[in-house]
Amino acid sequence: MSARQNEKANGREKQIREYYRALSVAWGAQHWWPAESRFEVIVGAYLTQNTAWTNVEKALANLRAAELLSVEGIRRVPLAKLERLIRPSGYFRQKAKRLKTFVAFLDKKYGGSLDHLFAQPTGRVREELLELHGVGPETADSILLYAGNHPVFVVDAYTRRIVDRHEILPEKTEYEEIRELFEKALTAAAREPGKPADGKAQHAPGIRGTAHLPSAMSTAARTPLVQVYNETHGLIVGVGKYYCKKSKPACEACPLQPFLPARRVGAMD
Ligand code: SF4
Repeated sequence: MSARQNEKANGREKQIREYYRALSVAWGAQHWWPAESRFEVIVGAYLTQNTAWTNVEKALANLRAAELLSVEGIRRVPLAKLERLIRPSGYFRQKAKRLKTFVAFLDKKYGGSLDHLFAQPTGRVREELLELHGVGPETADSILLYAGNHPVFVVDAYTRRIVDRHEILPEKTEYEEIRELFEKALTAAAREPGKPADGKAQHAPGIRGTAHLPSAMSTAARTPLVQVYNETHGLIVGVGKYYCKKSKPACEACPLQPFLPARRVGAMD
C-alpha cells in the first residue's frame, strides 16, 4: 500500500470511529440483540431476512407460546406446524426449512450443542454457517456476533447506504471489504480507555436509535471488542431506520449530519 493509500485508509477508519462515538453520545447503549437465549438470536437472524422486525416478533411469540423456541423444539416440531407458527415472518416455507437445516447441522457436527459450535475458532464457524442453505454473510455474522459473541462486524444495507452517502466507500463494495474497514476502525475504538457515552444527547424527540430493553443476551458477558461491534451495528440500524432512508434522508436531524461531506449537504433530497 502506498503512503497515499495508507493515509486514505486511516482517514476512513477515523471517520468510522467518529460515527460510533457520535451515535453513542446521541443514543447510548442499544441493547442488541433482544433475546433471552442464543438460540432465540439464531432463529431471529433467520426470520428477519427480508422482513420487518415487528413480523419476526410475532413469529417468535408463536414459537415461545408453543414452547418450541429451542433446539429441541425446532428438532421435534413437524415442518408443517413450524411453517404455520412462523408464517408472520414471511417466506415461511423457506425459513422453516432453513431452521430445520440449521438444527440438523448442529446435531450432526456438534451433537446439538451451541456451546460446542461457538467454542470453535471464529473463521471455522463462519465458514460452516456460510455453507448452510439460506445463510449469507449478514446472517452468519449476526449469528456469530449476537449469539456467539464472536468478534465479527455485521454489514447490512444501512451500513452500505451510509458509507456510500458519506463517500467512504461505494454502496456496491464487496461485503468483506466493508467488514474489514469497520473491524479495523473499531478494533482501535475498543482499545480506547473509558466507556462509550450513555446517550444523554437525544437528537429527535422519542428517538434513541433502535434501543431495546436490556435482555439476557444484550447483557451477556463479552469482550470490549465484541461490545463495540455489537453497539455500532445497532446504532447504524437506528440511523438507517429513522434518518438515512432510501429516499428523502432526514439529514438535518441525523446525528451523523456533521460528518456529511460538504458538497452533499442539502443535496440528499
Ligand atoms: S441521513 Fe444524511 S446525515 Fe444521516 S447518515 Fe444519512 S446521509 Fe448521513
